[in-house]
Amino acid sequence: MTDRIQEFFRQRRAEGRDLGPCLVVDLDVIRDNYGAFAKALPDTRVFYAVKANPQPAVLDLLARLGSCFDTASVVEIQQVLATGCTPDRVSFGNTIKKERDIARAYELGIRLFAVDSEAEVEKIARAAPGSKVFCRILCDGAGAEWPLSRKFGCVPELAVGVLEHAHRLGLVAYGISFHVGSQQRNPRMWDGALKSSAAIFRDLAERGIHLSMVNLGGGFPTKYLRDVPAVKAYGQSIFRSLRKHFGNRIPETIIEPGRGMVGNAGVIEAEVVLISKKSADDQVKWVYLDIGKFNGLAETMDEMIRYPIRTAVDGDEMEPCVIAGPTCDSVDVLYEKQPYLLPVSLEIGAKVLIEGTGAYTTTYSAVEFNGFPPLETHVI
Ligand SMILES: *Cc1c(COP(=O)(O)O)cnc(C)c1O
Repeated sequence: MTDRIQEFFRQRRAEGRDLGPCLVVDLDVIRDNYGAFAKALPDTRVFYAVKANPQPAVLDLLARLGSCFDTASVVEIQQVLATGCTPDRVSFGNTIKKERDIARAYELGIRLFAVDSEAEVEKIARAAPGSKVFCRILCDGAGAEWPLSRKFGCVPELAVGVLEHAHRLGLVAYGISFHVGSQQRNPRMWDGALKSSAAIFRDLAERGIHLSMVNLGGGFPTKYLRDVPAVKAYGQSIFRSLRKHFGNRIPETIIEPGRGMVGNAGVIEAEVVLISKKSADDQVKWVYLDIGKFNGLAETMDEMIRYPIRTAVDGDEMEPCVIAGPTCDSVDVLYEKQPYLLPVSLEIGAKVLIEGTGAYTTTYSAVEFNGFPPLETHVI
């Protein structure tokens, strides 16, 4: 929580504009995070994962700082290009693309694409001839709080064939990518994927195809309730693994931080709508907020992300509570399996501050589900 954010909320309350939940993102924090990535991984280019927070002011700042961008759709590409950033700093990193979207990206100047299958390679060869492609390999996501499952990537054995096919069709077989799972709390988790990547580099070199790049993906964590290692520890661990598996021939590397770039830059102010019990002898109180799964806190799904919640009465005696959102959908419960400790003296109408909400909040808001508007957002 920065002084600037605190002052913003104070002013908003003073002017009576505090009618619904509101996210404030502090650009100074993002500037510091960008600096920390650049310092921890000095030979690595940063491709900010736009989906984490595509607010124009966030993209403008990162473009000015020299960041590149990882995008997943034509709209995201257009949002990035609107900053004045040139298309050679943009990758189309989604492995699942319509051929007409590939063609549109190519028209816009994009020449770097992700693939994880021969069928996708063929689309790119037709719609974006001569482009660079990198193949995403599967990663099990162990140790991540928000795993990315098996939706993207192929097994390393298949990647060799996919990239060979790209080469045959006149594309540039450029490299390998992987994602170790979002909110990855273990800096050593890049090692296994780097080992597989080096093996693919060697296999293809034997066939006369020389890859250039490893895309190390995202996964860099932000601090929620539990502490996380500093980005410096990730830089050191990744560098050690690159040395171990690639020796003196370390390839070009890029990272795609999303959460780690913007997560800690945002704070949501929300309001307690109701505090109640379901029966007289209930041990646990229900606390209903004016924000829930459908207007910003989708990542509480399966209680995976546990946000720090601050109140004006922190320090008072605490008790376990179920925390729920305001909509009439019964899945709109944030924390129940593992109840959340809140002060006994918390009252209806009180404001709470939900920290670490700069990533994966605004764009996960439903549009008017149950009449609740998308999350009000300000970038300062
Ligand atoms: C979502 C995503 C990212 C960002 O992941 P974080 O864990 O938020 O850093 C990076 N790369 C790709 C391909 C993604 O889909």
